[in-house]
Amino acid sequence: MRISSEQLAQVNHQIDALITANSFYGKKLKEAGITHVSTPEAFEELPFSEKSDLRNAYPLGLMTAPEKDIVRIHSSSGTTGLPVIIPYTAKDVDDWATMFARCYEYAGVTKMDRIHITPGYGLWTAGIGFQNGAEKLGAMVIPMGPGNTEKQLQMMKDMGSTVLCSTSSYALLLTEEIEKRGIRDQIKLKKGIIGSERWSAKMRKRIGDGLGIELYDIYGLTEIYGPGIGINCKYNTGMHYWDDFLYIEVIDPQTLKPVPDGEMGEIVITTLVKEGAPLIRYRTHDLSRIIPGQCPCGSKHPRLDTIMGRTDDMMKIKGVNVFPSQIEEILQGFPEVSSEYQIRISHLDGKDTMRIYVETNGSVNFLDLADRLAAKVKSVIGFTPLVKVVETGLLPRSEKKTKRVIDERYD
Ligand code: ZN
Repeated sequence: MRISSEQLAQVNHQIDALITANSFYGKKLKEAGITHVSTPEAFEELPFSEKSDLRNAYPLGLMTAPEKDIVRIHSSSGTTGLPVIIPYTAKDVDDWATMFARCYEYAGVTKMDRIHITPGYGLWTAGIGFQNGAEKLGAMVIPMGPGNTEKQLQMMKDMGSTVLCSTSSYALLLTEEIEKRGIRDQIKLKKGIIGSERWSAKMRKRIGDGLGIELYDIYGLTEIYGPGIGINCKYNTGMHYWDDFLYIEVIDPQTLKPVPDGEMGEIVITTLVKEGAPLIRYRTHDLSRIIPGQCPCGSKHPRLDTIMGRTDDMMKIKGVNVFPSQIEEILQGFPEVSSEYQIRISHLDGKDTMRIYVETNGSVNFLDLADRLAAKVKSVIGFTPLVKVVETGLLPRSEKKTKRVIDERYD
């Protein structure tokens, strides 16, 4: 989807603000001799921005509005090196809440819902994003934050929570705990708004059936406001995203050229009205595609497909590019395995090996299942993995993001 002339005018406003503030990107644009873009082609020549650039701007190098207008900062986790600090103006906070409230509306959530929020509060954008959006909508918020499953379930029962906001891993953990305790009839949940990690159709079905709720995928990242920049509607044909606030391109991560709508590639986002820290052509490293055509819901907002992984999740094994989503898709075809799996890659005797751990219950012949799975992987990916079958419940569950791929080759 090419950038419209209206969006182009908005980008030029962002460029002006960046240069005037002489912030990190303002300097970069000035160095590149860019002050204005007048055509979509010129826009596609603008330099990309990367997470590493944002880190280099630590602590407040991204600040583009005057400090008197900054009301808050958020930060993305700094697991590798410095964190990224994003300053927000009051308008940024309000725009984010507007986008998030729209997400709730697309999911059919109303003022009469009671929204149970389990993502974390604090420096990151998770919990507070869900909360601002819910308050903008006018619903009742139950601001739990993560952990303490016992208390979560108690409040869920007593407060009659109708909407669960969580990661897919935590939603699965809650599903299993509710079943274990036999309290599903006391739980009033109707919908789940699930964010922040890729999840399989199998896991979605497990949670949806287990809790008897409708599920929605919410998209977002701290660098671009936070969660709430897109969500699927009830037709579940991809995530609508808010093109009045953002321009999204999908590029080939190798050639860095935009790909046609419908083709898979890396999501690149440009903010259109952000004040605190505008970003131009920010590379998310999330893999997806723009879904061409119109959604049956009639919304004019374009759609992104489910996130299929990260450009850096791509595993090169025995010279073959493998994505975790390919393994996931294969597992969909085996109803006897659970939604949980783990992939371990190691280097033994000069050769890469891939082990896949899956779970099943005692009624299945483990060795036979392992052979059938290994043969299927070989037929799709081209080499035979070692498949290890374990009892359901043995693989790790997590309150945050479950780590499914462990590459031991570079430890
Ligand atoms: Zn729709």
